[in-house]
Amino acid sequence: MRASQLYAPTLRESPAEAEIISHKLMFRAGMIRKAAGGVYTYLPLALRVLKKIENIIRQEMDAAGGQELLMPIMQPAELWKESGRWDVYGDEMFRLKDRHERDFCLGPTHEEMITTLIRSEVRSYRQLPLLLYQIQNKYRDERRPRFGLMRGREFIMKDLYSFDRDEAGLQESYQKMYDAYNRIFSRCGLKFRPVEADSGQIGGSGSHEFMALADSGEAAVVFCSKCDYAANVEKAELAPIMAPQEELLPLESIHTPGTKTIEEVCQFLHVPQEKTIKSLVYQTEKGLVMALVRGDHAVNEVKVQNALRCLELQLADERMIEEKIQSVAGFIGPIGIQSVKVIADPSVMNMVNAICGANEQDKHYKNVNPKRDFTPDVMKDIRLIAEGDPCPHCGASVQTARGIEVGQVFKLYTKYSESLGATYLDENGKDKPFVMGCYGIGVSRTLASAIEQQHDENGIIWPVAIAPYHAVVIPVNAKDSAQLELATIVYHTLNQAGIETVLDDRKERPGVKFKDADLIGYPLKITIGPKTMSEGQIEVKVRKTGEQFFFPMADYVAEVQQLLR
Ligand code: ATP
Ligand code: MG
Repeated sequence: MRASQLYAPTLRESPAEAEIISHKLMFRAGMIRKAAGGVYTYLPLALRVLKKIENIIRQEMDAAGGQELLMPIMQPAELWKESGRWDVYGDEMFRLKDRHERDFCLGPTHEEMITTLIRSEVRSYRQLPLLLYQIQNKYRDERRPRFGLMRGREFIMKDLYSFDRDEAGLQESYQKMYDAYNRIFSRCGLKFRPVEADSGQIGGSGSHEFMALADSGEAAVVFCSKCDYAANVEKAELAPIMAPQEELLPLESIHTPGTKTIEEVCQFLHVPQEKTIKSLVYQTEKGLVMALVRGDHAVNEVKVQNALRCLELQLADERMIEEKIQSVAGFIGPIGIQSVKVIADPSVMNMVNAICGANEQDKHYKNVNPKRDFTPDVMKDIRLIAEGDPCPHCGASVQTARGIEVGQVFKLYTKYSESLGATYLDENGKDKPFVMGCYGIGVSRTLASAIEQQHDENGIIWPVAIAPYHAVVIPVNAKDSAQLELATIVYHTLNQAGIETVLDDRKERPGVKFKDADLIGYPLKITIGPKTMSEGQIEVKVRKTGEQFFFPMADYVAEVQQLLR
């Protein structure tokens, strides 16, 4: 490819809305352009990277026994009504009607589509296991589309679905995918970690997320400082903490003017936060709930949602707190409260002589002894793990890091095969539901993650395996016909040797070409200048390390190949 013809409009500035580096650099490097919030055009350089990531994925999926197909993006509502998800998927689903007023959606995922596809055709255990995948656009009307390709409303996903006879089969398919994902992300040059994950709205249990580690990541992960435990904070379990034993004192209502936060109460009463109970009221589709954790702990909302099996969870506002539960924001507590379900973390129930809100303006209770003074409706671990908490496996302290979820593997078990009536006949001629798994990779998000992890102040630094091109050849003075001629020869020679090379034949100043080369992030920059002409040496600079080499014209191809390796 000649740079004079390459459609890669590079820019000096990035759009004001671009918050993270991958978004800025992709925009500046002429790789993406926005069509609408969370909807992008991939320009040629980005598409080349996407294709490379897709090919790595294809190779590994095929090697693991997967078969590629392509399902429709547009899906009839009936499938989703049958599984029960048409009503629960909510605003994230893009819905549309055809001219006959029939409902459709743009596929946010394809469990319904694939399960109904195979339910009528795969009848025998002999046809199993079956692993089918596709690479395709997905549509999700995200609440906050942002960060460029990281959280799009239209994005590219690889989704594979496994169909097995039983749980042992599922475990095998799951392991195959888990191993394949490790190979895929390694080959893409990412620094990543598989972590235990919550199985979320999709249901089932048993899941891992593959997290590309980056400070800009939207997810928080914990990992143990000692053993190999690693989990999404949403998932990480915590054992209850025992409080030191004390004599139980009588419950007392006390005046605590203007102390609306845990910090204020603690300051006012001179007590540590672990002596207080934090009471948060949430609104859910099943009514209001009060969640209790120790004052020094935070609530893990995913655990609350799972414990209550609710889909929506959001903090109630002051008016609701007053009208619906006759309490006062800032002074909420579980004692004597009605018309709200109470869910308590076990560590709360172990507390002795604690402080909590008294549901009256400027009033708290002291000497609250939870086991004596109130009865929660649900007692379950709802605490959010934090840096320094004990590892659920070995007890050593955990560390936290930020991650970008680039992939996730799920055991679905029979959630969809049962709701959609997808069964096969086993050896004894008995009808059995398929045992399923689903496995997603964010292809466009993987591209953005690679940039997030590897860049410098000048631009992108591509891992060779997914770089749009391997090298750029820059004649320092393209107006010098001898230089341009030699550069063109080098360019052809490298391409013929399988090194994907761009010739920057533009009549630009060398500074502009070098800047663009760094911005776009070609792994190798090959300069043809006066030294090449006089001494027969070509200059090769490695984008990643800044190393510079001079190779004789006679054997530079092998040297360049070696560098790329
Ligand atoms: P997230 O928690 O980030 O919203 P998810 O858990 O809803 O993602 P999955 O349903 O597991 O996503 O989808 C499989 C993969 O698709 C994810 O691991 C992620 O890499 C990618 N993905 C999901 N949503 C988006 C999005 N809005 N934009 C880009 N990639 C996405
Ligand atoms: Mg996920």
